[in-house]
Amino acid sequence: MTLRLLLLTSALIVAGCGTAADTSPDTVQAQTAVSQGMVTAANPYAVEAGADILRAGGSAVDAAVAVQAVLGLVEPQSSGLGGGAFMVLHDPKTDKTWTYDGRETAPAAATSALFLDESGQPLRYFDGIASGRSTGVPGAVAMLGMAHADYGKLDWSETFNPAIALAEDGFVVSPRMADLVARMGRFVLPRDDNARAYFFVDGDPERPIPAGFKRDNPAYADTLRAIAADPRALLTGPIAQAIIDKTREAPLPGTLTLDDMANYQPIKKPALCSTYRNHRLCSAPPPSSGGVGVQAILGMLEPFDMARVGPGVEGWHYFIEASQLAYADRDRYVGDPAFVTVPIDTMLDKGYLAGRSGLIKPMAALANYPAGNLGVAGTDATAEVPGTSHFTIVDADGLIVSMTTTVEAPFGSQRMVRGFMLNNELTDFSFRPTDDAGNPIANRVQPGKRPRSSMAPHIVFGPNGDFAFATGSPGGNAILAYTAKSIVGMIDWNLSAQDAINLPNVIARNGTVRMEARDLPEEDTDEVQRAGPAQEFGMQSDIIEGLESMGHDIVRSRGEISGLHIIHRLPDGTLDGGADPRREGIVIRVDNADAP
Ligand code: GLU
Repeated sequence: MTLRLLLLTSALIVAGCGTAADTSPDTVQAQTAVSQGMVTAANPYAVEAGADILRAGGSAVDAAVAVQAVLGLVEPQSSGLGGGAFMVLHDPKTDKTWTYDGRETAPAAATSALFLDESGQPLRYFDGIASGRSTGVPGAVAMLGMAHADYGKLDWSETFNPAIALAEDGFVVSPRMADLVARMGRFVLPRDDNARAYFFVDGDPERPIPAGFKRDNPAYADTLRAIAADPRALLTGPIAQAIIDKTREAPLPGTLTLDDMANYQPIKKPALCSTYRNHRLCSAPPPSSGGVGVQAILGMLEPFDMARVGPGVEGWHYFIEASQLAYADRDRYVGDPAFVTVPIDTMLDKGYLAGRSGLIKPMAALANYPAGNLGVAGTDATAEVPGTSHFTIVDADGLIVSMTTTVEAPFGSQRMVRGFMLNNELTDFSFRPTDDAGNPIANRVQPGKRPRSSMAPHIVFGPNGDFAFATGSPGGNAILAYTAKSIVGMIDWNLSAQDAINLPNVIARNGTVRMEARDLPEEDTDEVQRAGPAQEFGMQSDIIEGLESMGHDIVRSRGEISGLHIIHRLPDGTLDGGADPRREGIVIRVDNADAP
């Protein structure tokens, strides 16, 4: 039996039935309380750790710290201590929904030439990634520290125990981690001494660690112990210095300083919320473009009867057109609001969205998809690649956490320090500061700025204000499309969490449409099986052909590696969850009775 099956079996065993509804005044008022907890994330070890914390009486935030600490160990290609994150949290006691922004920050000495060569031309994209310049001040851990100070029930230090034990005893390397080590191992990853020793058998770059390999990481355990003693241990003292030293190495050394690290502050702010039909959607505001982008797609879909047309040619046509138009706005106008004015109110204004939606023709693709006229901003030139992880947690008190977390590219900047990878988040800035017409690009590099993100963790409330579901995904700029698909699937098409996740992924941006396709040309078959389950979940050929006949420029995709992890509150108050089969995750439900 594989590790995944083993863990899945144990997950099913622990799944329990709900207890009678809690009738204490707080929970009745909030209307979000459930008698169960649930954790869903991209790796079974991480989900088990989160569930153990819930069983020990921890809150959803306590569980989030444990999940993140384990993900940084068992899924280092996606997120970790050296990265950043956005958490959206709903507090049932106050009925308030917050965002914790743990986005990385550019050094004070960063200039608009950060990713330009000596002649002022943009660096080759991967050269920018695999450099000392791409690392921003890591924010995920400090952000979790802030959320824990607000909502932790267990001691901060206790939440690290599962990850410390796993780092010391060793974990079984998953197929996805092994695949990415092998793929990235062909490029720059083995050039870093620490990464070579860790990810390759006997440090031999020809021998990437295979799936099933038992890997321990004592350096990671030591780092976690330091963080367990002080949530800001990464930002001051010897670990901060080690991070800085690593970014100062060639090629393309960066400029991070101890001041940059010590000055870092996570930001707590109200979530960005808007309505879709009779639901309320809440996500992270800028510098992420994810919340505004997803909500703009849905806002443009509102005039169409998506429930009636269903997931057929007409429904996907509207989804494609709304995506194209929303991406055009998001590409142009979103940057760090501490540095640029983001016309967020207009971008989500119902009248504005109705106007954009009015451009959509019933049965024909538009010839082009210009951004709306919301003021001068340069045409975006930001590249984005997929890495990242999303997890969702609800505890028995009804506290809800939806968190997307990232080191940006697979294995971040390809440099390892003290058992964890450094992020390359600063390549989420536009390499070019201005467009061809000389207009400054909203997402250009500036000192102390946070790069634009696509991360879109969402919490969705139903008609009575009750918690309905929480969703989110990794996937670079495709995050907007993956997340919007899941929301349409659940609200309009009345699907279960798992069925909404399984819908084909459709990414419509810049005039083309990437679409998971069930039938691919013969020669692509091997590739399909390596890249993902597109054959199982892909769009049927007749729908693709129908869309092509409307003029859509469709690229049949071998698999889009979304990582949607959804928790859904059913009408009886019990929880149902879904984990994306395109990754390695599971769902565990924790009966409240398990808590002491
Ligand atoms: N770095 C990207 C962002 O913040 C996420 C990359 C990914 O999802 O893989 O939007």
